Amino acid sequence: MKEVWFQEIIRRVIVEDNMKNLILLAAPGAGKGTLSKQLKEKYGYVHISTGDLLRDKVAKGDELGKKIHEMQMAGELVTAEIVYQVLEDRLKEEDCNNGYILDGFPRSLEQAIEYDKIAEKLGKDIGMTLLLDIPKEQLIERITGRYMCKDCEAIYNIYSKEMKPAKEGICDVCGGELYQRKDDNLESFEKRYQTFLDNTSSLIDYYKEKGNFYVIDSSRGKDYTLEQVEELLNK
Ligand code: AMP
Repeated sequence: MKEVWFQEIIRRVIVEDNMKNLILLAAPGAGKGTLSKQLKEKYGYVHISTGDLLRDKVAKGDELGKKIHEMQMAGELVTAEIVYQVLEDRLKEEDCNNGYILDGFPRSLEQAIEYDKIAEKLGKDIGMTLLLDIPKEQLIERITGRYMCKDCEAIYNIYSKEMKPAKEGICDVCGGELYQRKDDNLESFEKRYQTFLDNTSSLIDYYKEKGNFYVIDSSRGKDYTLEQVEELLNK
């Protein structure tokens, strides 16, 4: 028992000393949000989800927000220039100096090439690229059963024993109300999944060529997924 505890401390120290920036490549529902939350809580990684950054713009309710909302609801990619600007602005913030995770970006080869330019301009290392690998049937359950807390953003899944809230519609952590994202339905999922497949193979080739590409099995639960990532960060 003592040994396990000691190994955990050593693991933490090594990871904290070696906070590589991460790019997460994954289909919708593969666990990007959950893994990012774990890395944020355990090591202080900054989680940058372009989907969330764009939803923040939507919440403002101005013309730009309305345009973004229409594209998101249709399951389409938001126009490149809008995404680049939103991302660059976020990367300039000071908290991005000690390790960040890109979730939902890049989504195409064009975006990967643009990210190299943005990273170079801002003096950032692109770090490691991780592909979260999981079968499609499992993704459908994860997406259509996914609920989030309005207050603390904890993530639940009504089809999973491990992630089901104790009380329907109520957050176990803070008692807040749970909600489902509007685009977490089967129709929108199918479109987003197809877009992911269409774009990912070129990204995999691009990062394999750079030599910073790794595959993570994310079909066996969030703790196993995190363990594999920690092993890589330990290297
Ligand atoms: P996500 O939360 O990552 O599933 O993204 C939700 C939606 O936001 C996507 O379906 C797109 O409409 C938009 N979006 C997020 N990231 C990007 C990106 N890198 N490029 C273009 N559109 C994006």
